[in-house]
Amino acid sequence: MTRRDKPISLGEFDIIAAYFRPLTGGRGGALDLLDDAGILTPPAGTQLVVTTDALVAGRHFLAGTAPEGLAHKALGMNLSDLAAMGAEPAAYTLAFVAPKPLSEAWLGAFTAGLADMQAEHDVFLLGGDTVSTAGPMTLSVTALGWVPAGKALRRSGARAGDDLYISGTVGDAALGLLIARDGRKLAGEAGDAFLKERYEQPRPRTRLGPRLIGVASACIDVSDGLAADVGHIAETSHLAAEVRIQDLPLSDAARVALDGDPRLLSTLVTGGDDYELAFTAPPGAADAVRTAARAAGVPVTRIGVMTEGDGVRAIGPGGAPLDLGTGGFRHF
Ligand code: ADP
Ligand code: MG
Repeated sequence: MTRRDKPISLGEFDIIAAYFRPLTGGRGGALDLLDDAGILTPPAGTQLVVTTDALVAGRHFLAGTAPEGLAHKALGMNLSDLAAMGAEPAAYTLAFVAPKPLSEAWLGAFTAGLADMQAEHDVFLLGGDTVSTAGPMTLSVTALGWVPAGKALRRSGARAGDDLYISGTVGDAALGLLIARDGRKLAGEAGDAFLKERYEQPRPRTRLGPRLIGVASACIDVSDGLAADVGHIAETSHLAAEVRIQDLPLSDAARVALDGDPRLLSTLVTGGDDYELAFTAPPGAADAVRTAARAAGVPVTRIGVMTEGDGVRAIGPGGAPLDLGTGGFRHF
C-alpha cells in the first residue's frame, strides 16, 4: 500500500480545502468555499434552471467503481438534464456523503474526474456539503444553468407531424452495461471497450441543448432508454410516437454486437444511460436542426414522427409495425 492508498481520517474541512476548493477554479461566487453559501449572478434576461440527481453505492453503482467514472456519472447525469432543458450549464453543488475511511488516492481520482468534466462543460463547483455516514456512499449533485427567459425546452411541446430526432448513437450504454456488469463479449476488444466507456463516462450534450432553443418543440435526455424517454415526450405532449427502427443511428460497435445477436435490438431500444437528447421539431425546422447539430459538433438523426394517438410504436422496414418478440420491447 502506497502512502496515498492509505485510508486517512481527514476532517471535513481538510477535505474541502485540499480536494474541493480547487474545483471552484477561483470563481468569485464560490467564495473559496469559506462562506455559508455560494452566489451566482444571472445573465440579464435569463431564468435559472436547477436539477438534482443522486447516486447511491450498491444501488446506482457498484461499491468498487473507479472514482473518475463515478465523478463523470454524478456530474454528467445532471448536466444532461440541463441540456435537455436547453440550459447553458453554469455551476454545480455537491453533497458528498461518504463512509470513512477514504484514501487520498480515491479523493484525488474522484476530484480529477470532476475537474475533467468541468473543463469539458465549462462549469465550476459552487458549494456543497461533506459528511460521513455509516451507510453507503451517496453523491448528490445539483446543477445550475441559464436559459433565455420563457424559452426552456419542455417535454410537452411536441405537435402532431413533428419529426423525432436523436443525438449521437442509440443503445451503446446498455450494451456497455452488459459488458461491464455481466462480462458479456459483444463487439471485439476495442468495440467492447468503446461500449463500456459509453456506459461509464456519459457525454452530456451540453453544446447541443442550448442550440435547440427556438428550434425543438420538445426535448428530453435519454436516461431510462429511448423507448421510455420518447414515451415521456409522447405522453406529456398527448401524442403518439412512431420510431423507424432501421433509421436508428448505431455506433460501429453496436452494429457488430447486433449482427452477432439480433436479439440485442430490444436492449438497444429499451436500455438506458445513453444521455443523448431525444427531441421533436416541425418539418420546416429541419434545416435549423442540421445547423444546430453542426454548430454543436454533435450528429443528429431523424428517427421518426409524432402522430395523433398515444404510446410509442416501432416501425420496421416497409412501414409495418415491428414485432420484436420478447424482451422488454412490449411497451412499444
Ligand atoms: P454550513 O455549516 O454553513 O452548511 P459547511 O461547514 O457545511 O457549511 O461547509 C463550509 C463550506 O464548504 C460551504 O461554503 C460549503 O458550500 C463548502 N462545502 C462543503 N462541502 C463541499 C463539497 N462537497 N463541495 C463543495 N463545497 C463544499
Ligand atoms: Mg453544511
